[in-house]
This record gives sequence, structure tokens and C-alpha cells, in this order.
Amino acid sequence: MDPHTVWNRIMDSVKEEVDALEFNRWFASIKAIKLDENILTIEVPNQFVYERLENQYLHLLKKGVKNELGNKGKLEYQLLMPDFKNAGTKAKTKTNPVAVNTKDLSNYNPFVIPGIKTYHVDPNLNEQYQFDNFIEGDCNRVARQAGINISKNPGRLFNPLIIYGGVGLGKTHLAQAIGNGLKQNFPDQKLTYISTDKFTNQFIMAVKNNSANEFANFYNNLDTIILDDIQFLAGKAGTQEVFFHLFNHLQQGNKQIILTADRAPKDLVEIEDRLISRFKWGLTIELTQPDFETRLAILLSKLDKLKIELPMDVCEFIAMKLKDNIREMEGVLISLVAQSTINKKAITKELTDEVISEYSNKASKSLGMDDIIQIVCDQLKVDRELLLTKTRKSHIVQARQLATYFTRKYVKSLSLKNIGEYFGGKDHSTVLHSCKVVENMIQTDPSFKDTANLIEKKILKTIRVK
Ligand code: ADP
Ligand code: MG
Repeated sequence: MDPHTVWNRIMDSVKEEVDALEFNRWFASIKAIKLDENILTIEVPNQFVYERLENQYLHLLKKGVKNELGNKGKLEYQLLMPDFKNAGTKAKTKTNPVAVNTKDLSNYNPFVIPGIKTYHVDPNLNEQYQFDNFIEGDCNRVARQAGINISKNPGRLFNPLIIYGGVGLGKTHLAQAIGNGLKQNFPDQKLTYISTDKFTNQFIMAVKNNSANEFANFYNNLDTIILDDIQFLAGKAGTQEVFFHLFNHLQQGNKQIILTADRAPKDLVEIEDRLISRFKWGLTIELTQPDFETRLAILLSKLDKLKIELPMDVCEFIAMKLKDNIREMEGVLISLVAQSTINKKAITKELTDEVISEYSNKASKSLGMDDIIQIVCDQLKVDRELLLTKTRKSHIVQARQLATYFTRKYVKSLSLKNIGEYFGGKDHSTVLHSCKVVENMIQTDPSFKDTANLIEKKILKTIRVK
């Protein structure tokens, strides 16, 4: 039997005894993770929930465990979050008073609190991403070698390590390969990989649930953190603040910090200077576009893994055509194979060419500022070039304001500063002012409102097509 089935059955019996609200509060977040003979291991969010189960629901759980696993049945806890009252140093956690208590009571208590070893940090790594299958070329040699070195000697060589570069050039692959390498070399490493988006959301939830302390403790306890795509810290002052403290704490303890970004630290926008200046303490390496030979080598290694054979001229054709994004190259490969299987067509250069143009149309960047400017100019019959000059002619000004307003609304990746720079070095207050003007006009001028609506409809349609 698998742990989930057993746990679900125990939960069915618990549900009969407690009301839904109580159930959701104390049981719903628990996961069964292991069943070893008669010991069922469950993952409990934190010490608090554990204590509540102990004090209030022990009898129900005991009954369930006995029914499902017999008299010798036992339940073991794993805490997802450390006990933040007693955590801090490893030594303290070992003498966690609760663990001692539980041991004393073990005569009649089916629960065992495991020691520090089983304290659970999910590394969150994808095992597909290894150094072995990260093909080396001039574009990534330094980064790959630095990564290999770090995986043998974390926390001491390059801290932080920052890998930056364009989309699909292998930042996530390399960062994860370092994580996987570290886990292989040091299985006990408390290491976690997390995207900046997820990190931000976790922090927001923690604040909302009054558990910001636990959040900080969890991350402070790590030996290595891999934070992917830190450009998304832009404008998130609260997350930047916790990350700043986390960074200092980990760095002072010689714990390894690995960061990735889509641009060089100095070009990051809306990120506090004190963070940027810390990023400069370590090693910053750019991943550049791979040359033709490297692209071909990557392609051949992917084919190998997928156990697909392609004519060499087709491989060369793909490597020649797709220059700036490895992910796109993989995408084309997969559509190509799918197309040829479904339509029973041989994979030729011609078919490849079709697939590439179809693919790059579909994948062509999501809606950007250029698209919006184009739509506004078309609608208002304004010359695009004029819009980007400094002319103060009123209908041009209006077009510029509309483009600014909709860019702000739909292109979330651009900051006010970015938008201002695009329109000839306007500062962010000018951008905000333009947006206010448009909002006011929409409310007060019906014909302006109609125009704005038409433009917005076109924008939405473009988003849907893309
Ligand atoms: P990024 O995070 O920079 O956007 P990813 O790490 O997600 O890019 O890489 C995109 C895809 O390209 C992944 O499937 C990755 O395995 C592959 N890739 C990139 N560079 C290499 C490389 N040097 N060798 C093998 N695969 C690579
Ligand atoms: Mg990535």
C-alpha cells in the first residue's frame, strides 16, 4: 500500500469526528510521504501544528493508525518548517525539548519526532539539469567551470555567484546543475532552488499568515540558496528587504548564494543600491549566445537524449537558423518530430523551414511596447517616428500619452523609468502624469473614451493571438 492511501483512510475516519473547519485547519495541509513497514511518515507544516495534533487529536490519530496499520503501527513526523522558538544553531535544535518529551512518552505514544537529520528542506531540483549535459562552448566556459568549482567547494570561492544572460541561454540549467552537483558531493547540504516569483509569493503569504519569522528562519538555515531570475525583485521593496538580510546572514556564514538574472547587476532596475552593491562582491558571469558549433553540439546531445535521429543537414540547418535561444531550438525539434509523426512526412530541410517559421511566429515575443505604439499610431493615424521625437504638437502628445498609458497597463515587465527612457528620456513622474491625463480624459471626454476603447480592444486581440 502507498502512504497516501493509508493516510487518506485515516483522514476519512478523522473527518467523521471533527467538523470541517477544524479539519481544514489542522489536517488538510498534512501530507503522507513514506510508508516503511508499519511506520507512516507524515509531513507537518510546523511545530505548532504538531503540538496541536499531539495535545488534541492524538486519540483520533492513534485509533486510525491502529485500524490501518495494526497494533504495531506508528506515525512519524517530519516538520516542514523548523521549530523557530528553538532553532538557531544546530546544537539547540538537537536538544529540542519537544523531541525529548516525545521520547519519554514513547511507551504509549505512537509518535516519534525525528532528529535533525530528517528535518526536511526540499532542494526543488530537476535532475535533468546536470553539468554533464550542459554543453560547454566559449559562450559559457567560465560560468560552467565556476559552477563545477562551487559544487565542490561551496561558500568559499565565489559568493555570490551571479549568472546573467538572455532568455533561453541556460541560466536555469546551469544554476540547477550546480545544485545537483552540490547534492551529489554533499548529500546533507540544506539547499533549495527557488524562482524569485515564488520566493516573493511565499514571503507575501508568510506576512499575511503572521509567519514571516518562520519564513526568515527557514531560509537563514540553508547552506545554499539558488534564487532564479532576480530581475523580478524589481519594485518589491518588502521582498528586497528580507532578501537583503538573508543575503548578509548567509554570506557571513560562508553559505553559498547563487543568483541568476536576465541582465547585468548594474542594469537591474528598481532594485535597491545596497543589494546591487552586494551583488558585486562575488563573481558575475555572462552567458552569451553560443556559436554555431556549440549550438549544433547542444542539438545533437538533445537528440541523443530523446533517442531521435535526424539527417545531419537538417541538424545543421536548425543550428544555423536559430541563433539566440536554446529553448526555441528544443521547441522546434519537438514540433518537428511531432509534425513528421502526425503527418507521416519525412523530416527534410523544407519541413524544418516550415516548422521554424511557424514556431517563431507563434513564439514571437509576448506583447511589447513596440506593438502598443504601433496600434496607437495606426488608430490615430500618427507617424510612428514622430511619436518618438520631442514634438509638442497636441495630437502627437496625445498619442504618446495613450501609448504610455497602455504600456503601463499591459507591459508589466517595464518600469516607469524604462517607459520614460523609451520616449526620449522622460523621468518617471512624467510617465505617471501621462497616465493620469489619460485616465482623466477617459472619464470626462466620451469621444476620447471611444478611441481609447478601440485601441484597448486591438491590444487585447493582439495579446490573444500571440
Ligand atoms: P534560461 O534560464 O537562461 O532562460 P534555460 O536554462 O531554461 O534558460 O535553458 C533553456 C533550455 O536550453 C534548457 O532546456 C536547457 O537545458 C537548454 N540549454 C541551454 N544551454 C545549454 C547547454 N549549454 N547545453 C545543453 N543544453 C542547454
Ligand atoms: Mg530560467
